[in-house]
Order: sequence, then structure tokens, then C-alpha cells
Amino acid sequence: MDYTYFLSKKSLNRKPSPIRALVPLLKIPGIISLGAGNPNPETFPFSSFKICLKNGDVLNVEEKEMDEALQYGPTAGLPALIDWLREFQLAMHSPPYDDFAISIGTGSQDLLTKAFEMLIEPGDNVLIESPAYAGALSFLNSQSCTLIVEIETDEQGLIPDSLSSTLSNWPSLERFPKFIYTVPIGNNPTGSSVHIERKRAIFQIAHDFNILILEDDPYYYLQYNNPRIPSYFSLDTDGRVLRFDSMSKILSAGSRVGWVTGPATLIKQIDLSSQSTNLAPSFVTQAIIYALLKDWKLSGFLTHVDKVAAFYKEKRDIFVKYANQYLRDVAQWNVPEAGMFVWIKLKGIEDSNELITKRAIEKKILAMPGEVFLPNPRPSPYIRLSFSNVSEEQMRLALQKLADLLENVSVN
Ligand code: PMP
Repeated sequence: MDYTYFLSKKSLNRKPSPIRALVPLLKIPGIISLGAGNPNPETFPFSSFKICLKNGDVLNVEEKEMDEALQYGPTAGLPALIDWLREFQLAMHSPPYDDFAISIGTGSQDLLTKAFEMLIEPGDNVLIESPAYAGALSFLNSQSCTLIVEIETDEQGLIPDSLSSTLSNWPSLERFPKFIYTVPIGNNPTGSSVHIERKRAIFQIAHDFNILILEDDPYYYLQYNNPRIPSYFSLDTDGRVLRFDSMSKILSAGSRVGWVTGPATLIKQIDLSSQSTNLAPSFVTQAIIYALLKDWKLSGFLTHVDKVAAFYKEKRDIFVKYANQYLRDVAQWNVPEAGMFVWIKLKGIEDSNELITKRAIEKKILAMPGEVFLPNPRPSPYIRLSFSNVSEEQMRLALQKLADLLENVSVN
């Protein structure tokens, strides 16, 4: 594929940092470096890290990783963690090509915004599913895009026909879009998951119209059913998928470790962006995550991930129980198969904003009004609820209060 076609001028203008280019040379036996200004580790106060797990296990970060964790290092991330993630991606997705590259970021948000910058030229038109992840919208709104074109979704996620009709009716004088951004599993905000038949249809459309797929998939391992739905990356016979993963929902959000996987040319451009912004994500947190993964191995990690998915499934079931009890007459929703969100349509209401941002707060209930997730803002009858962090009693109380509010609205 000709990746230059997809790259913004800003990205093409990025040159490798001459100082960062020295990093691999430091490995040459006998080399004496008066080049890079690495601080002298003798001055660092840390000698080791002990990682204490909730199950009582204690892990140590080994000396080599400890040295790497405390120093500047390769932009793409801790080499041992990159290697682990590479094997992991091969095992989880069996992609049709194996010379893909990986780069670790400060959470997947870091990589996502770098990918947007890499692809978007001022004046470009971008395609995004609607509703969409608010964190992607806030970044896209800060870019000088001419149009943010909404591709429709339903309870099964992105609609292939909406994508193909938008692309086939694209006005010839308008700049053709270069990518579609989507959250395919346990969607934020709708909770929907795109099954494999749709993914195949969408991949085919992306192939036919030569656009990239930005697969933002932090809820992939929060699928409640087995086997997991395969990813777009697993279908990528062309090298047109950039896949974003995250440890945030499975190990910890504060570790800020995410990774992007895809064609080496594109990943290199993302690395160039890191070289001129944050230099690299934190090696300390990467070393901690790596120590854990090394100890757990793939099987231990997957056991953990299954437990996390089962935890959220139980929360989902509690939500469904009380939603059926309290909201049945005043709202509609789809039961999510993954993730932590439910997208609820309020009956008889055109704009959920005032209800959620004022009256629900007065009743001490927090939720998100649907308009926050619309790429081109307008009133929405939807709200997004998250069941991730509430007890059964809190869920019951919240839905009961919400139902009271909605019943009062319909009465008034
Ligand atoms: N994409 C989506 C769809 C998300 O919901 C989030 C987190 N809310 C992110 C990306 C960012 O995740 P991270 O913590 O890995 O930066």
C-alpha cells in the first residue's frame, strides 16, 4: 500500500531525532558514548521495585528491566514488553501479515491522537461512527477538519450500508476521507459490539474505497461471551488497520499503558510524533506491567482477563435486572455483550441534556447526556450509563430515581 497518500504534511515533515538515533548504537560492544545526554544512573535513588499483588504474590523487576526502566530508551517502548505484546497479538488475532509493528503509548488515547494528527491535513473530511467516543471527538474538534462526517450505527454497531453509501456518493469536489474511526466492541457510548459478518463487510468497503480503519478497541477483553469476536486486525489482508489496545480496563487505568499495532510505516510515523512530544511513554510503568506479564505468562494473563470480563458481566446482569424493574415503561436499551456502558433512549424526550445535567444531579445521580457523543452536536434523547463502578444497591437506587424523574417528565 502507498501509505504516503494517507499522511498529513505535518507527519511527512517529521524527521527522526538525531539524538534518539543514537539509542540503538549504544548496544555496540565497546562503544564509548559522549553523544546522548543520558543522566548518570548512579545518581538515581531507586535500587529495585517490588510489586505486591492482591493475591499475596510479590514480584521483582529484574535488573536489566530495572536499568532500562530508569533511563531514557527506545520511543516505541521497553523492548521486552514490545516482544511480549507482539507474541500476544499473534496469539490473539493471527493477523494475515506478521511484519506488523507495535508502539506503546501513554494510554491508547496518546496513540490515537497521534494517529489522527498523522492522518489529518487541515481541511480534510473525516469519517467517524455516530455516536462516538467523546475523547476522540474532543481531539478531532480541535483539528482543522472541514467536515466530521457521521456514519450511522445501530444496536449492532457501525452500519456497513451507511459507510458504503457515504463513500459512493462522496461529492467529487470534496476531499475524499482517508479513514474511518470506530470502537467495535463494547462501544463507548452505546455498548454495542460489531460481529464478524459486519466486520468483514466493513473491511471490504474500506478495501474498495481505499480508506484505513482505526480500530479503537479498549473493551475487546471485556467481552462476556466466548469465543471473542475476531478483530478487524485479524482480517487485515491489506495492512489498512491500525489497532489500538489498552491495559486501562484490564490491569489499571493509571498505569497509562496502551499500544498500537499496524503496518510498520504508519507505526514509525507515530513514533516520530512521540520523539518530538513526550520522547517515550513511562518505562517505569512498562517495567511493572512487563514483570507481571512475564510472571503470569499468556495463560495467567488470559485467566485474569476472563475474571475481569466475568466481573463486568455480573454488573451488566444487575443493571438489566433493575432496568427491567424500573425503566421498562420510560426507556429502551440494548443489553451489551461487552464493556461497561448502556445507551438508553428516553421515551417521550427529545433532549436529555437538561434532565441529566440538572435534574438528575439534584437527585444525586450522574449520567452522560447523549449529545456529548454526537460528532456534530444536536439534542439527543439518549443517555449513557456506566455500570462499572456501582454496587447492586447503588444501581437499584439510581435506576429507581431515574425512573421517578422520567415519570414526572412524562406526567408534566
Ligand atoms: N478509547 C475509548 C473508546 C475509551 O473509552 C477510552 C477510555 N475511556 C480510551 C480510548 C482511552 O483509553 P486509555 O486509558 O488507554 O488512554
